[in-house]
Amino acid sequence: MDELRALYQEVILDHYKRPRHFGVLADADQKAHGQNPLCGDQVTVYVKTNEDGDIEDISFEGVGCAISTASASLMTEAVAGKSRDEAEALVDAFHHLVTDDRDAIDPDQDLGKLEVLSGVREFPVRIKCATLAWHALRAALEGRGEPVTTE
Ligand code: ZN
Repeated sequence: MDELRALYQEVILDHYKRPRHFGVLADADQKAHGQNPLCGDQVTVYVKTNEDGDIEDISFEGVGCAISTASASLMTEAVAGKSRDEAEALVDAFHHLVTDDRDAIDPDQDLGKLEVLSGVREFPVRIKCATLAWHALRAALEGRGEPVTTE
């Protein structure tokens, strides 16, 4: 278990130090900003969808703690190329994963690398850091322009 934890920590730190899909997506057709006042995390998620509504490209930018940045980075990797429905299902599954509601996750849902963030469920304050970018993604997909906040 300790080895697993160490591995998870390593993945989180890697994504924090070298976030994937980081920066403004110039040709994004949807974006949403999120903030977590409790920690000071800020994130803007940019989404470019194709004519079928699939996520053709995604990026994020912002400043935040290791958990919020790593979660946003892992999220962009996980949803890039997915359909809107698949992405929304993943948003739900991720929420269950970090709020210790594993039973609610569809058994067919593969969370892959996102599992590294499952440990935050032990730290309620960190759950908001982990879910921030996901709130923003959902707002972007729903075409809601207004900022989202974890509070
Ligand atoms: Zn945070």
